[in-house]
Parts: sequence; structure tokens; C-alpha cells
Amino acid sequence: MNKALDRSLIKRLLEADCEDPLASTDELTSQEIPPGVDRRTFLMRSAVGGAAAVMMGSSVSAQERTAKALATMPQQTTGRSTAIPPPTGKTGPPPPLDKDLNVVKKGQGPVMTTADEFYKVGPGPSSSHTIGPMRITYDFYQRATKLPADKLAKATKLQVNLFGSLSATGKGHGTERAALAGLVGKEPATVDPKFLDSLRDMPDQTFPVKLGDKSIDVSLKDVIYDATKGDFKHPNTMTVKLLAGNEVLLEQEYYSVGGGFIEWKGYTPPKKNAPKYPFRLMKELRAHADNNKISIAKVILANEMSIAGRSEEEVYAFIDKIINAMVATVKSGLSMPEDDVLPGPIKLHSKAATVYKRALDDKYAADKGIGALSAFALAASEENGRGHLVITAPTGGSAGVMPALVYGLLEVRKLDRQKIRDGMLAALAIGYLCKHHATLSAAEGGCQAEIGVASSMAAALTATAYDAESRVVENAAESALEHHLGMTCDPVAGYVQVPCIERCAFGAVKAWTAYAIASNEIASRHRVDFDATVMALAETAKDMNSKYKETSEAGLALSVTLC
Ligand code: SF4
Repeated sequence: MNKALDRSLIKRLLEADCEDPLASTDELTSQEIPPGVDRRTFLMRSAVGGAAAVMMGSSVSAQERTAKALATMPQQTTGRSTAIPPPTGKTGPPPPLDKDLNVVKKGQGPVMTTADEFYKVGPGPSSSHTIGPMRITYDFYQRATKLPADKLAKATKLQVNLFGSLSATGKGHGTERAALAGLVGKEPATVDPKFLDSLRDMPDQTFPVKLGDKSIDVSLKDVIYDATKGDFKHPNTMTVKLLAGNEVLLEQEYYSVGGGFIEWKGYTPPKKNAPKYPFRLMKELRAHADNNKISIAKVILANEMSIAGRSEEEVYAFIDKIINAMVATVKSGLSMPEDDVLPGPIKLHSKAATVYKRALDDKYAADKGIGALSAFALAASEENGRGHLVITAPTGGSAGVMPALVYGLLEVRKLDRQKIRDGMLAALAIGYLCKHHATLSAAEGGCQAEIGVASSMAAALTATAYDAESRVVENAAESALEHHLGMTCDPVAGYVQVPCIERCAFGAVKAWTAYAIASNEIASRHRVDFDATVMALAETAKDMNSKYKETSEAGLALSVTLC
């Protein structure tokens, strides 16, 4: 493309801002989606058609755009494919998630997620492989206790079967230890990490599980790494059974759908109150904020109060708990000995304390800042690698990103706590929208869904903490997410260490860069809106080869040799 044409294209795109067919997401989303066609793919292709028309200086009707989008759509099968790609991974993306999953259906209504569902404290290293499975087995244990006494009297065994990604990389994540901990009645937020460490160091231990008058001994042998490939509703599928010999007294199929969220066969989401400011898109969220002359954070606060029926004090008390946990995880990571080695076959040396110490000796303030911010992220992420308590924001693998910014803004820059609270609420909006329309699960979308979303949340946090207007908050979040699109998940040896720990540092620095650009550019000229980038995240997730979705079958997981 020659420069003159290039410039004229850019000019036209800028001029088109007021009547840009892409500017109105309503127009896109109100188009009728033809039957039998995947909604997201259709909208994406329709939007691309509109953009192409703008670039060529022509106008295009909604009907023409629909026809063009349809013509370029890949053929849809009427049901799910019955085969997950073979281990060679040569067949491209895996089959779509089952349409019955709430995590798939929920994209159509307003965002209804609440802070306590999103920010969860629990043991690392992976929210979907540790916190989710622990919540699942704890849930099953609670169900089992409610069985009639005569049934419980017959029980002889509890058994957990892990499938898909949980089976492929669960060993590296300690999924079997998390699953066992839930079975014996431990909850993620309160489990002592030393208990999980003891399961690793003494794997033959048995524990009595009390069910009515019956006591059943369970051990790690009761957690079975089952098929990694199959026709699963979700890549993170597991079943839990209570048996009497071969007779099944109770069985439940569960899905760890990302960020520690869980669903099960027949799941219906809990009833909630209507949000004060309903929104499905960033565009709608910002309209609430701007029309009511309040910040994005205040919109989220009002929705938290209305959806969950909580007072402002209760919402802030919860947010404070999460802020304090994030600060604690950075402090704890920085205080570890410099020669500490993380658990697992990589024998990865901790580096947070060393990087922090040396960064402070850097000559230039900017170098110090970037080094220190990286060290904070490394510290929290290494805590995740140790299986210690971390906070999902949005996941365990990305648990270094948000704490790095929270620690830096609160403990180093000494910003007022209320600014951090507001930032945490704005960050929630970003996480909610990504969960609502795309995914937070690396098993579904690769690392862009973890570190990318975390970085985007951290950019919104930072912009909000510095009182940026809603457009700048959106731009910062968009930018941070955009520049993680396509990032794959390929943890070496299945351990959330390489590339995950350093990746958290990069996610934190990119969040800062996104804020630096967004707060210094002319906000109205920022061309890519957040909703479009979330759509791209969803589409990229769908197209990504399953080898790059937390299976450790490709990328660094193959190229790095352990010796
Ligand atoms: S590579 Fe990214 S998505 Fe995968 S486990 Fe590591 S942090 Fe999570």
C-alpha cells in the first residue's frame, strides 16, 4: 500500500467516526442473526464488511453486510463434533463448547456477575485447575452429606475422574491435591497451603471423610487422571462419584469453566436482582457513566449493590479484603529467600527478590519503576507457583498482574485507598465483559484470556486510580487487551511457571504502557473500541488450535528441554 493511499485511508477512518457503521455496536447487535449461524462469527464478519466499505469510501446496507458476512462464514455443523483433535493437533481448533453451558448462554443478557464471584482467594497455581476442582469436590461433598442415611450407610468409596485439560496438565497444577482437599472438606479461601504442600510431600496419606454415620478413607489414589481427549461439554470436565462397590449412589459431572467458576450438568445460575444500570457492552456501560456523570467504578458499585442486595459498606469491605490479600501476596513473594526454588521438575529459581533489590539500584527512575513493577508481579506470581494463596484476577496463572499495580499504586505511590477501590471496581467491569462475551479460561482461549484480560483489568485499575474519564479507562483497557490477542498457553511441563511467571510481569508493564498511551493520546481519536477487541478475543479463542490451550502439547512446552 502506498503512503498517500495509506494516509487517505487513515483520514477517512477518522472522518468516519461520526457516521461509522462500526461505531454503533447496537446496530451490529440488533441485526437479526440468520438461523444456524454462529452469532459471534457472524457479527465479526459483518463488522469487517462494514469496515472494508468505509475504507473503500462506499456505504453498505445492513442487508448487504449480512449477505457478505454469510458468504464468508465457515460451514457450521448442526451439532458438536464427536471428536476432539488427535494428539498431533493437526486438525486445528477444537469443537465449540456445548451450547447448554451457562458460560456459553450468558452472553446474551446483561452482565450479572458480582465481585465475590470474580475475585476469589484460593491456592495457586491455576484457578481452573486448583480452585475450580477444589470447589467442585467440596460441592460434591456437601451434596453427599444430604443423602438419606440408609444410602450413606452403604457407601464404600469416593472417586474423582479428571478429563480433558484437567487430565492433560492437572499433575503439573496439583489438581489431584486440590480435588482431594475439597473432598475432605477444605475450602479454597481458607485452606492452609501447608496442607496442600503436605499432600505433595507425603502422597500416601489417607483421610477419613465423614458421611452420616459412615467414614470413608480417601487418598490421592481416588483421584484418577482419565481421558485427555473425548466429547466433553468443556475442556475442564470432571466427575465425582460416591460408590457402594460397583453401585453408584451419587454421581455428578462438573465443569471448571475458568477463573475458579464452576458449573455442573443441569446447572442453572443463581437468581439475582436486576442491576441498577444494565449493560452488555462497554459502550452501554460508558453511556450509563457519562449520562449520569458518574465514573465506571460507581456504575459497578451501584450494580453490585442492586444485584447482590449489599450495602456500599459491604461491597467496599469485600474489595478491601481483596486489596489486602493482593498486597499480602506481593509482600510474601518478595520476602522469600533469593535462592528459593519453586516446586516441580523445572527447578525454577525464584527471582522476585533479586529483581526488586537490583532494580532499586538502577540509575534512572524510569528503569527503577519498570523493574520494581515487574518484581511485584513476579513476587505474586511465584507465590502462585508455590501453590500459596492467590487472588483470581481473573485467574491463578495471571495472579501476578493486578497485585503488582495495586501494590505499586497503594504501597509505593501512596494513592488514597478509595482510588484503589474505585480502580478495583473498574477492573471488574473489564473482567466481567471478557467473561460475558469471550472467556477467562486458557483451556478455551489460551493465555490471551488470562494474562491479556488481567493486563486489561490492570490498565483500567490504573486509569481509574488516576481519575481518568471513562473514555480513557476504556481506551487503556482496550489497548492492553489488544496487544495480548493471539497469545497461546503452553506451560512447560504443565507447571504454571514458564512462561507464566515472567508473563505476569509483562502483563503488568503492558498495563502501565496502555495507561501511559491512553492518558496521553487524544482520547476521542482512539480507533479501536473495547467491545471490538473483546469480540476479537472470542473469535481468536475459537480459532486457536487446541495444542495451545493449556494442554502443554506445543510451543514452549515442546521446545524447552528440561535436564
Ligand atoms: S501460559 Fe498463560 S494461560 Fe497458560 S498457564 Fe501460563 S499464565 Fe496461564
